[in-house]
Amino acid sequence: MAVHEPGTSTATEAVHAEPEELDQDALVALGKRRMLGNYKQAPVVFVSGSGSRLTDKAGTTYLDFTGGVAVNVLGHAHPRLAKAIADQAHRVMHVSNYFYNEENVLLADELCKLTGLDRAFFCNSGAEANEALFKLARRHFSANGKPEKYRFIAFEKSFHGRTMATVTLTGQKAYSEGFGPRIEGITHVPYGDLDAVAKAMGPDVCGIFVEPVQGEGGVLPAPPGFLAGLRKLCDEHGALLLVDEIQTGIGRTGAFLGSQLDGVRPDAISLAKGLAGGFPIGVTLVSEALANALPPGTHGSTFGGNPLACRAAREVLATLRDDDLVQGAAQKGALLGEFLAALANKYASICDGERGRGLLRGILLKPHVDARAALQTVREKGVLLTIAGAQVLRFTPALTVTVDEIEECARKVGEALAIVAARTGPPKENKE
Ligand code: PLP
Repeated sequence: MAVHEPGTSTATEAVHAEPEELDQDALVALGKRRMLGNYKQAPVVFVSGSGSRLTDKAGTTYLDFTGGVAVNVLGHAHPRLAKAIADQAHRVMHVSNYFYNEENVLLADELCKLTGLDRAFFCNSGAEANEALFKLARRHFSANGKPEKYRFIAFEKSFHGRTMATVTLTGQKAYSEGFGPRIEGITHVPYGDLDAVAKAMGPDVCGIFVEPVQGEGGVLPAPPGFLAGLRKLCDEHGALLLVDEIQTGIGRTGAFLGSQLDGVRPDAISLAKGLAGGFPIGVTLVSEALANALPPGTHGSTFGGNPLACRAAREVLATLRDDDLVQGAAQKGALLGEFLAALANKYASICDGERGRGLLRGILLKPHVDARAALQTVREKGVLLTIAGAQVLRFTPALTVTVDEIEECARKVGEALAIVAARTGPPKENKE
């Protein structure tokens, strides 16, 4: 295997290098050397997938209950989605935003009808969708003669993305430390605590950013009535309710939007992740009252709203509808929840219960359990999961997951938890 030392390859060598087949270990080694070390990655290289299965370069097939972290709503290599993307690539992939294109206009219309909102701005990721929402909310008030109304309320343990505005909105300091001054004007309060929000409200608040279920924070659903309470506080203070539906949207919780489960109508939302089933896309959707907040020149995105991403999203939405997948997420989510609750109960020496909504669920590991080691044990049993918060094993399978696959997942995770419980033992007694 001819592998160059860092910094020794030349452009000419690279152009003339023979492509060679690297095995999994060699690819991992190359990835470790050539990619920035900003992710904790398992030593596995995936090469193909089908439905809820992923196959690695060594030929091992796993049951994928990460769903690309709530992205692959139709599973892997869904024939309808793959065909739509291929067809669109043969027609037109990109035109600039100096023109409309058929796909983004039709997708905007569909999304407005599904969400009850009125206007769309397309971008390429969740962070960008929230960044647009942040700018739009501030600009709305400044354009209406209230530039002093620029403060946001956001929640402890929230996650809103990795741009400077969105890491500052994110209620976990670890994401914004070391990057210089944070953006000013954001107040964090405990999630679920309406009294704390009421205390933090004031005439300078332009909006409240909230997730219907805190996904990255540890799969923590909002308590009943919390979103409705935020809606009321926003109305009383002339502030905007900005709901981050990036992880909870596109049917994941058993409704098209997580906030719809609570019967709450936001002023604006952000969507990304599952919207195009794995093709990068983000969208900010707002009510008509905010339609003029970003006039020409104030915001934009080169790739945002490109026909390929929007065609993929339209095929996802059509498939969700035709195959009744949102309703299915509610039913299959309830089943998954029952299995996980039973497991958490059985392995109570290491688990603190189960929680979630629809197909966004988690098993809480007790503080003395090494969550990363537990995740690896689950993987060794052939199931892929992620960790959310510090101690939550998160399950975000495709909405196309089958009942058999849910049973298989529960069985294998059960085998893994038995190993973890035997290895870890109960929490040490507090001898004070
Ligand atoms: N908001 C929420 C609720 C998320 O879960 C995420 C990603 O996990 C983001 C925003 C950021 O999305 P992206 O990684 O596409 O920028």
